[in-house]
Amino acid sequence: MSLLVIGSVAFDAIETPFGKTDKIIGGAATYIALSSSYLEDDINLVAVVGGDFPKEDIKLLESHGIDTEGLQIKEDEKSFFWSGKYHNDMNSRDTLITELNVLENFDPVIPSSYQNSDYVMLGNLSPDVQRKVIERMESKPKLIAMDTMNFWMDISKESLDKTIAMVDVLIINDEEARQLSGEYALVKAAKKIMAMGPQFLIIKKGEHGALLFDSESVYFCPALPLEEVFDPTGAGDTFAGGFIGYLASTDDISFDNMKRAVIYGSAMASFCVEKFGTERLVNLDQSEINSRIQQFIDLSQVQISI
Ligand code: AMP
Repeated sequence: MSLLVIGSVAFDAIETPFGKTDKIIGGAATYIALSSSYLEDDINLVAVVGGDFPKEDIKLLESHGIDTEGLQIKEDEKSFFWSGKYHNDMNSRDTLITELNVLENFDPVIPSSYQNSDYVMLGNLSPDVQRKVIERMESKPKLIAMDTMNFWMDISKESLDKTIAMVDVLIINDEEARQLSGEYALVKAAKKIMAMGPQFLIIKKGEHGALLFDSESVYFCPALPLEEVFDPTGAGDTFAGGFIGYLASTDDISFDNMKRAVIYGSAMASFCVEKFGTERLVNLDQSEINSRIQQFIDLSQVQISI
């Protein structure tokens, strides 16, 4: 099945207790598309970069089978730039710089070859742009999933609410779920958020795993306990890419299959944090992914009789 991915394609500068990078390739859509490319062949990217974005990085995305016809290049403008610094626990970070640049006036164009994409992943971007993408699709996709962040809750709450009402799955972290719902307890928060529109909700809890909700059930997937977390940047997007990539490749949107998709998302995210930026994600092979999925199965399986 085909998968349409939108989001930022960016330069990031990252500081963790392990080191610092200059401007490296990042962005929500970059991580989503790379991650899903290991699971689904038909990936269509809608995003925008400036003339400063290296052509070899676009080629790198294409070498992963990602279609870049929908990637606009604004030759006279600068790419989106984000910089963040992680605290010692690696679970929290401060955003140091957000320069929207090309994203400020981004008008997404959906090429005709993307129009019938079955699955849509709305990566982190302004909710106005995310909504335009939904409105500009000729046929209704089978499933629309969406990520967002506190930045948009702070500055575009009304627009964000409108976009959330149009999607099937919302993927956010625990802090964002609390801010969005005004509830501290995540089960209460989940109920309130699903009442805003999405039928399914995923709440990511970093090294403490992820919760998948629908109106009746909840499923918990642990995160893989890793000896070393080098750089968590993009882990959330990589999770989203693994999740939606698995759904698109299996074309099954039942709650049971979403549980498997959450495991794929968590497995892909566990690779992402092992190196800086996209470094680990660009060179994976299928056997590594399979053995990591097996680790997740072993981690959660238990024989018990009551
Ligand atoms: P994550 O660590 O999963 O939250 O994602 C980090 C990625 O999100 C980085 O590569 C950034 O370029 C991108 N990002 C950060 N802030 C924004 C924003 N306001 N809009 C779009 N993308 C963003």
